[in-house]
Amino acid sequence: MIDFELTGKQAQVKELVHQFAMGVIRPMSLQADKDHRIPDDFMERMVAMRTMMSVGEVPQEYGGEGAGIGATPDKKGKTQKNRFAMIAAEEMAWGDISVLLSLPGPGLGGPPVQFTGTPEQRERFFSVFKKEGLHWGAYGLTEPGAGSDVAGIKTSCKKDGKHWILNGRKCFITNGGRADWVVIFATVDPIQGRAGHRAFVVEKGTPGFSCGKIEEKMGIRASETAELVLEDVRVPDENLLGGEEHYLKGKEGFMAAMKTFDSSRPMVAILGTGIARAAYDYTRDFVRENYVLARPIPRYAQLATTLADMKRLIDASRLMCWRAAWMADEGVPNAKEASMAKAYAAKAAMKVCSDAVQIMGAHGLEQHQFVEKWYRDIKVFDIFEGTGQIQRIVISKRILREMPNF
Ligand SMILES: Cc1cc2nc3c(=O)[nH]c(=O)nc-3n(C[C@H](O)[C@H](O)[C@H](O)COP(=O)(O)OP(=O)(O)OC[C@H]3O[C@@H](n4cnc5c(N)ncnc54)[C@H](O)[C@@H]3O)c2cc1C
Repeated sequence: MIDFELTGKQAQVKELVHQFAMGVIRPMSLQADKDHRIPDDFMERMVAMRTMMSVGEVPQEYGGEGAGIGATPDKKGKTQKNRFAMIAAEEMAWGDISVLLSLPGPGLGGPPVQFTGTPEQRERFFSVFKKEGLHWGAYGLTEPGAGSDVAGIKTSCKKDGKHWILNGRKCFITNGGRADWVVIFATVDPIQGRAGHRAFVVEKGTPGFSCGKIEEKMGIRASETAELVLEDVRVPDENLLGGEEHYLKGKEGFMAAMKTFDSSRPMVAILGTGIARAAYDYTRDFVRENYVLARPIPRYAQLATTLADMKRLIDASRLMCWRAAWMADEGVPNAKEASMAKAYAAKAAMKVCSDAVQIMGAHGLEQHQFVEKWYRDIKVFDIFEGTGQIQRIVISKRILREMPNF
């Protein structure tokens, strides 16, 4: 049975992270957006404080915090780590989304290494994050011409003795330019579709592997989004995730790419909800100061209704995210519920941020102010990690599959 009441420890984590987001992250949010970067000394402080709340975590067995601070096993031996991670992530996104996406750590590259890598590969690639300094991992799937159509990737991999030769281009890769390593998805033969996919870890500095342009974006500007170029990149056999036998089973390379999303989609959904809540909190205070306290006028009734709608959308989004997280903690397959949370929360958050601008009138459009920034930041939540349309395809396929005799 799902219980939505926060435990004492969860409430403590929520309060702690909220104070941190309010006192440390929010004050630098607008400047980072203006500069299109988060200063290194700020990142170093975050690492020193062990704030490893990036979207992908270094698992505890490899010296990291693991997803979900404070997620120690309960009486039944279950950790609730996804629920803890949800609570903390919403508060961090409330502070600033680009900071969260830029935090050192494996990022989205973590899940394929964790799920598909051999124990030796996990140790080798996660141990990077134990070293001094700032270290990132990244996830390289998208290509020009292959975004939603994941099966259509063209980056090629050809066997050459004890190496593979990779050629191709990846685009829109979060933290791609500064990552110590990137999980690159390539194909032995595009005709084979999903069965041809292989997942490699390509390390920074490998000859032929370079960073192309850094994208200028409408939103989440302080989060790095990079193009990656692979020209005759020689990658040793040991960097093929899971080893060659792993791929003889069929679509294992493709599955390595997709499995990432079961864990990341509810997380991305709650991040959007965190931004929506930030916009709601800000607007609610604006309404209270400018209308309720200063000049109560009939228009207030309309504003109050809009505020009520905003709050309703935020709470519904959070409940869907928590359900998907609860299922993951219980070991119940959650692909449908993860996609439902992602599809719903993204649209709900866009509506909330748009309403926030509307309520604030011209002030809502002022450049380099919070509400304008959140309005720009939120759009990508209906695009990355699978667009809204793709989520609907996932949901409908699962619904039909669940029908008897289908
Ligand atoms: C800021 C940012 C960060 C990103 N980070 C990463 C990253 O770290 N790693 C990575 O690999 N990728 C990353 N991406 C890429 C992202 O995952 C893709 O942008 C996304 O999958 C959509 O692909 P696309 O942009 O090529 O759009 P397209 O696939 O070209 O889609 C265009 C439109 O067509 C619709 N559409 C496409 N196919 C269908 C269909 N079958 N049915 C109905 N509608 C359809 C889409 O929903 C969309 O509205 C990032 C993108 C952004 C913007």
